[in-house]
Amino acid sequence: MIPFVARPEFEYGRPDRVSPLIRRVVANNPGPFTFTGTGTYIVGRDAPGAAVAVIDPGPLDEAHLAALLSAVEGQTVSHVLVTHTHADHAPLARPFASAVGAPVLAARPPVRTIHASQPVEEAEDETFAPDVTLSGGEAVAGDGWTLEAFATAGHASNHMAFVLVEENALFSGDHVMGWSTTVVAPPDGDMTAYMASLDAVIARGFTTLWPTHGAPITDPQPFLAAYRAHRLDREAQILVRLAAGDRTIREMTPTLYAAVDSRLWPAASLSVWAHLIALAKAGRVVADPAPTLEAAYRVV
Ligand SMILES: [Zn+2]
Repeated sequence: MIPFVARPEFEYGRPDRVSPLIRRVVANNPGPFTFTGTGTYIVGRDAPGAAVAVIDPGPLDEAHLAALLSAVEGQTVSHVLVTHTHADHAPLARPFASAVGAPVLAARPPVRTIHASQPVEEAEDETFAPDVTLSGGEAVAGDGWTLEAFATAGHASNHMAFVLVEENALFSGDHVMGWSTTVVAPPDGDMTAYMASLDAVIARGFTTLWPTHGAPITDPQPFLAAYRAHRLDREAQILVRLAAGDRTIREMTPTLYAAVDSRLWPAASLSVWAHLIALAKAGRVVADPAPTLEAAYRVV
């Protein structure tokens, strides 16, 4: 079982100091993909004139913009960083950055593909364009802090986490979340990439993970091991269903997700699809004619 962490203590719009170098302001956009809302992080000392960075300004929300501007009043925002272009993370980046006169840094937005028909993930911010394009490994610094871009594709093809070097902490965005597993929905979501970037996070041995939604993960290694095991279990269950004679995602999803509300099966089927694409890529299953949502699959 994944040791999910409890509901965070917060009030919408109130900046809370959560570590020596981190403040968090939660936007009032709770929902099935955002839990209690989007947590925007302010990195740097809470002192007049200090240079700070802001991670994931969040959704287009006037009250949240006002709360962020009030939280950084008297300080200099040197960088606005965005983990990925989903609508609960990116749209406020440009208005906020313009208001404070800072550049926006993020990975290149994905090339638009056909939308999956099911509402299983936050919509994409299709107008997003960073001032500085990150590919991972870049570092930016301010008064007593250093942030390093950490490429973590999987949930989104352009997902970037950020390392706070001084606290051995990772702003994990939606790559690793404390309250839930992450949606990996093709075509933009990619399970092969997701597992590789999960292993990269495990290898770094962070002290704390600060997800965009929910409370921090303060004992990351057992949490990440359980998170990883959960995916491998699901993959093994899919191979069992194929061995039992199921051929399609539609056939196997009700059995794989018997424990969850059938209204969630369309969303769950995208996760099964993500696993099957990864298994096909690894040469462990064959898809006929190609690894689509409707294809027939069999074990090699
Ligand atoms: Zn997202």
